[in-house]
Amino acid sequence: MAPNDNNPNTILSGVASSSGIALGRAFHVDRNVIQVPHHRLAPGTTEHELERLESAFVLSRHQLHEARIKLTGGDHLQILDTHIAFLEDPQLERNIRAQVTAKMINAEWAVNEVINEVASVFDRSEDSYLRERRRDFEQISQRLLANLMGLHQDGIEHINEPVILVAHDLSPADMAHINREFILGILTDIGGQTSHTSILARALEIPAVVGLESITREVKTGDLLILDGFAGRVMLNPSLELIDEYDTRRRYHLQVETELRLTRDLPTVTADGATIQLSANIELPSEIVALRTNGLNRVGLFRSEFIFLIGTQTPDEEAQYHAYREVVEGLGPNGVTTIRTLDLGGDKLHHEASALHETNPAMGLRAIRLCLARRDLFRTQLRAILRTSAHGKVRIMFPMISGIEELREAKAELESMRRNLREENIPFDETCEVGIMIEVPSAALIADLLAREVNFFSIGTNDLIQYMLAIDRSNEHVNYLFTPAHPAILRAICSIIDAGHHAGISVAMCGEMAGDPDYVMFLVGLGIDELSMTPHNSLRIKRLLSRFTMEEARQVAQHALTLQTSSEVSDYVITYVRTHYPEEFWVPDWCEDGPCLTRDPEREPMI
Ligand code: PEP
Ligand code: MG
Repeated sequence: MAPNDNNPNTILSGVASSSGIALGRAFHVDRNVIQVPHHRLAPGTTEHELERLESAFVLSRHQLHEARIKLTGGDHLQILDTHIAFLEDPQLERNIRAQVTAKMINAEWAVNEVINEVASVFDRSEDSYLRERRRDFEQISQRLLANLMGLHQDGIEHINEPVILVAHDLSPADMAHINREFILGILTDIGGQTSHTSILARALEIPAVVGLESITREVKTGDLLILDGFAGRVMLNPSLELIDEYDTRRRYHLQVETELRLTRDLPTVTADGATIQLSANIELPSEIVALRTNGLNRVGLFRSEFIFLIGTQTPDEEAQYHAYREVVEGLGPNGVTTIRTLDLGGDKLHHEASALHETNPAMGLRAIRLCLARRDLFRTQLRAILRTSAHGKVRIMFPMISGIEELREAKAELESMRRNLREENIPFDETCEVGIMIEVPSAALIADLLAREVNFFSIGTNDLIQYMLAIDRSNEHVNYLFTPAHPAILRAICSIIDAGHHAGISVAMCGEMAGDPDYVMFLVGLGIDELSMTPHNSLRIKRLLSRFTMEEARQVAQHALTLQTSSEVSDYVITYVRTHYPEEFWVPDWCEDGPCLTRDPEREPMI
């Protein structure tokens, strides 16, 4: 709907990036995109230009280090470190200097040229995370330009009353200045689920809606707003009635969160006492803070490739060892860390000049295939993981396994790294378990054969659905077909779990389906042993699990397996669990007599 000053309750929709509700006045972070001056240098002035450039680099690094001092940890620190690392990478400065001298252009122009070039490499990537990383370079470029041109950037640190921030985008340095006491919510024009602002807003537990496209045009400082971080909506000029309603929702949400926290230290069992392991999916070591907040001490999926993606250089054995060790030690003596070996495509190794250009990278030289093609990378990682196993329980997991030969080759590499470490007298856990992701249809079909060769399975539904149903998981045009409820997916999951159990190994799930409350009963009914998910989801899943018995879950699963279409399955499974355990499915809809249960097809499952 087009916004209109005279029209109360105007609604704008964006991406629901951090849950929660905020009511308050807007604070517009005015950050006009800098107009870059272009001019050729007069002969003899190059040295002076290079000095200006160097000063801008020094000042930019200093500003980021200052912002860093104010932070104590978490994702924002990690992202700020990434910016610092980019700025400290001598190659970046060298490339810009080369432009100044070779083309005789001013430093601002050269900064723009080089950063645009780097950003375009990220743009071409198939991976949405990498595409989002282009913002890192844009933000670094804006900082360098502002310092070259003597412009002032900040203002957020001076906020001393409760407001909702409205910005085109916020950089990690902006986020470092956020005073949690005064920032009620965040709204931005651009960004998606994996953009920095979203990651950081979730880490700081600030409600946020991103990707609103025109929020900076529609809203000015002082405007009254309601932010619904569940539904990804913003209400401009809300009526008193709407304010009242949302305030009740907000208080209700806080009450639900407080009650959930009380279950933090309770065991994860069904109503009849069967234990289901809950664990977390993480991308970076800093996320272990979120595990502790949610009472978890297991990592079911550590997507190790993110350590490779955030820096400017491929991390060596020592750097990887320290990152893995940080997680293992952070989880304490009873912790378990499942480290998945690199799940990168050829195009994602952005430090390497030889990036491949594949027309279909999802089916290309990705994950275990890349590792077997690039043994140097693989061996280094295996050594780092094995060394980490001397500090706590570590499990190694290979992604994208599609056949026995591939698995045996990967295991042979692992064995040879074990031998090397023994020869070098470097300690590691000789009993370290080895497992695989089941996420390729061929692996699902030969799960019985694969199960004899490993200690555990973890089902990756994100890719399993993509490959089984032939639906690109990041293509919004076919997103409506992407569902775990397809009978083929249900059957595949059932037979993978049976094959694993038949061979006496445990079967986990770490795809998004594992954290979806609508499908938890079904998965438990099939006998899943472990569910690995975003840490924030785990308390709700734990409480839901405690409500039903194994027998009830089995009946739901068996009936679901008899159904013929995706909609029959989803109608049955979802309706069953939502009508039997309605209190576990709070969604921010409101009926006359209180919170009510509706399923908004535009929204992700509410958890
Ligand atoms: C999956 O495919 O389900 C999975 C967990 O792996 P990723 O999302 O990292 O591909
Ligand atoms: Mg996968």
